[in-house]
Amino acid sequence: MDKKQPATDNQHNKPMTKIIDLRSDTVTKPTPAMRRAMIEAEVGDDVFGEDPSVNALQQKVANLLGKEAALFVASGTMGNQLCIKTHTEPGTEVIIEAGAHPFNFEAGSSAALAGIQFYTIKGDRGVMEAAQIEEAIRPTTDHHFAPTRLICIENTHNRGGGKIYPLEKIIEIRKVADRHGIAMHLDGARLMNACVATGIKPIEYAQYFDSVSICLSKGLGAPVGSVIAGSAKFIDKAHWYRKMYGGGMRQAGILAAAGLYALEHHVDRLAEDHENAKILARGLSTIKGIRLDPDSVETNIVIFDVAETGKTSREVAGKLREHGVLFTFFGKSSMRGVTHLDVTRKDIEEAVEIVKKVLES
Ligand SMILES: *Cc1c(COP(=O)(O)O)cnc(C)c1O
Repeated sequence: MDKKQPATDNQHNKPMTKIIDLRSDTVTKPTPAMRRAMIEAEVGDDVFGEDPSVNALQQKVANLLGKEAALFVASGTMGNQLCIKTHTEPGTEVIIEAGAHPFNFEAGSSAALAGIQFYTIKGDRGVMEAAQIEEAIRPTTDHHFAPTRLICIENTHNRGGGKIYPLEKIIEIRKVADRHGIAMHLDGARLMNACVATGIKPIEYAQYFDSVSICLSKGLGAPVGSVIAGSAKFIDKAHWYRKMYGGGMRQAGILAAAGLYALEHHVDRLAEDHENAKILARGLSTIKGIRLDPDSVETNIVIFDVAETGKTSREVAGKLREHGVLFTFFGKSSMRGVTHLDVTRKDIEEAVEIVKKVLES
């Protein structure tokens, strides 16, 4: 933003002192140190495999997740889509939770690009049980059915309110997958949040999956990018599809450097976001008209219900926006706040005060 021109509230054209943006952990801007790392990045043509920063990032993520190889991709959506495409053929089926990102927020790409169909299961805050999955697997003996090829799991689960997928449930699901010869993909857009919150290492989660995708541009604070990881053979095939999908980038090391910086400096600090999310949740839960169980908050996402305010979530979000606090809304009465690198403890306390003032006046 231009420093000479203060931001204005479009409706009232008065200067806005400050905006506390809790819409998503994707709104973070690269820190000065991250920008420096980007400026200084060594680069080359990554389509030729010659970008040292991209190669370093891929190696780092492969090591982090205990996989043979990794691939830098443009977005979390591209990461999930490349993995779904690589694991399946058109006409096959992918088991996924009903609130999951690829099913809801990836623009129909799994149908359009991979030609698969989803079998959705309603989980408990995004967590499916092994028994539900086993029931959903199609018999291979009857050609009426679309063969089940893949099980997708999301950890942490976004629509589940940042819910951590319990490791023991993943292990049970892996046993089912092995019995039926089905692959497993981890949408780990926020896997690092799960790791920081539980102390479980990324490699401990990743070992149960054939492919893993992590986002650098969510809580980790990089401006762009995700990385997928798997066997060398899997990543080689995904690399072909990445080119097909238009995701072969050239001097992408400038972006990879931000990702490397994020993995080195922004993982442990996720604990602050989790703490801030708890403070936000506790604060909001005391406000009249808001329904929220603060104990349900496990990472950096806070979902709450505003039905008792007598207003829709869209109306509440609009009202709060006028006062400089941004949340997202979905459905008639659900709202979401996400803590991240660019909001401080003080911002959170201020946001709670503003919500209280606006809703209780
Ligand atoms: C954000 C997100 C993605 C990927 O999103 P992009 O906007 O394409 O980077 C994938 N899965 C989950 C769970 C997410 O929250």
